This record gives sequence, C-alpha cells and structure tokens, in this order.
Amino acid sequence: MKIIAPSARILAVDDGRDILCRLEFAGRICYKSEEKITADSAVPFLDRIVRSGHHSVIEHASATVHIVCDRGVSHELVRHRMASFSQESTRYADYSGKRFGREITVIRPCFLAEDSPAYKIWLEAVQRAESAYFALRDAGAPAQQARSVLPNSLKTELAVTCNMREWRHIFELRCAPAAHPQMREIMLPLLRDMHRRVPALFADLYAAFERDMPETAPERDAVTLPHYPEQATLNPDVFPF
Ligand SMILES: Cc1cc2nc3c(=O)[nH]c(=O)nc-3n(C[C@H](O)[C@H](O)[C@H](O)COP(=O)(O)OP(=O)(O)OC[C@H]3O[C@@H](n4cnc5c(N)ncnc54)[C@H](O)[C@@H]3O)c2cc1C
Repeated sequence: MKIIAPSARILAVDDGRDILCRLEFAGRICYKSEEKITADSAVPFLDRIVRSGHHSVIEHASATVHIVCDRGVSHELVRHRMASFSQESTRYADYSGKRFGREITVIRPCFLAEDSPAYKIWLEAVQRAESAYFALRDAGAPAQQARSVLPNSLKTELAVTCNMREWRHIFELRCAPAAHPQMREIMLPLLRDMHRRVPALFADLYAAFERDMPETAPERDAVTLPHYPEQATLNPDVFPF
C-alpha cells in the first residue's frame, strides 16, 4: 500500500493578462465605458468589480485544476454544482491489476501524527481494507463490487473546471476554518497559486486566509504543465483507446 500526500495544481488557466483584458472588456460593456480601457486599467477596474459584488463579470474566465485527494474530500468537492469534474473511477480502476502493482494508494491524514496511537489504528484499518479488497477480487468479485470495502482514505484524482466566480466561492467555503482540515490542506495552497496567477481576482480572499497558509508548502509555479501519470487508470476492456 502506498501512503501519499494530497496535492492540487493548476492545469489550465488563461494567461493572466488575457484574463484581465477579457474580463475588463466584458465588464465595461455594462457601463459602455470601453473607451476608458488603457494598458493599466484592468486591475483597478476588476478590483472594483469584485469589491462591488458584480461577480457575473468574472464568469467569463475559468481554470482547470488537477486535484489528488482522498475519497472523503472528493465527495465534498463534487457537491459544487457549478463545476465540471472528471474523476478516477473505482469501477474501472482495478487495484489488484499489474498496473497498480496490486496495491491501493491512500492519502495520509494530515491531522494524525505518524508516531501516534491514532495513526497506528488508521494504518491497520486501511491495511485491513486493502486485504479485504484483494480477497474479494481473488474470490471472483469484479472491481466494482470489491470497491465496497475500500476506505474513505483511498486516493482519488479529479480534473475540476469552473469559472473564476465559482473558484472564489469554493475558496470562500473550503479555505475557511470550518472546512475539513484535509480540504484546507489542498485549498489554501491552491488559493495561493491562483492569487499569484491572477491577483486582481483573488486579492481579498488571499488576504483573508494568508495567515492560515502553510509556511512549509513549497513555492510552486502558478501554472504547471499537465501531469499525465504513467499508471493507467482505465480498464482497456471498457475504454480500448
Ligand atoms: C463547512 C461545511 C460543512 C458542510 N456540511 C454539510 C453537511 O453536513 N451535509 C451536506 O449535505 N452538505 C454539507 N456541506 C455541503 C454544502 O451544503 C454545499 O452542498 C456545498 O458546500 C456546495 O456549496 P454551494 O451549494 O453553495 O455551491 P455550488 O453548488 O458550488 O453552487 C454555487 C452557488 O450557486 C448557487 N446555486 C447553485 N445551485 C443552486 C440551486 N439549485 N438553486 C439556487 N442557487 C443555486 C448558490 O448561490 C451557490 O452558493 C457542507 C459544506 C461546508 C463548507
């Protein structure tokens, strides 16, 4: 069994300057003030748009993020109805197969110290779940049945696409202290990356949550190249391409 840390990285976001110009143009249509567009006008204009709550304007730009998290966190994420999702399937991914090295991958719980008795209890539980999964597969159960015993800690991956208004909404809810610690573990660094990329749209949220940002998180490029894991996650019998 592999135990890994969660992550989130921006796969695709329009160039920051491109977003600003597009959003400013869209917003100025409302006021017929396009003639006020200059090389420096977008940031203060969009700052006013965001602060005034005229948020429909920022729906004209979106971002796609690749998130690696556990099934518990992913279940919360997919409640966001304004976003589009593609998620690793436990019906088609067969963790007993060679592609997965006959092991499951779980997300380490950030709230348990690795030398604590609670961590030991968690570890034994996910190991038992893994054993039960392989026992079911060996007994002839297909992956979509054996998955019934997989733990909430199972690693999953999602591509999440939504517009900037919805990203703001997600950060507001999921960076807040009331959010689950494993959700905050992902969302706070992601907000930092998004703010670095398009500060005009996220400055207020970044300021609100800056003190909660993990200090040890590595500095990351705001936009990284898409990462396509070598490990295939689809059953070729179902998706033969
Ligand atoms: C701390 C926390 C605890 C939670 N606890 C629970 C829980 O115990 N049980 C539970 O079931 N869920 C829980 N949730 C999930 C929560 O109820 C929402 O389903 C989730 O946060 C998605 O938020 P949303 O509906 O605002 O956003 P989205 O679905 O992302 O929608 C964005 C916005 O669009 C608008 N919108 C979307 N759909 C509609 C609609 N049909 N009608 C009108 N307006 C709409 C709303 O303004 C909404 O805020 C919790 C969430 C948080 C952050």
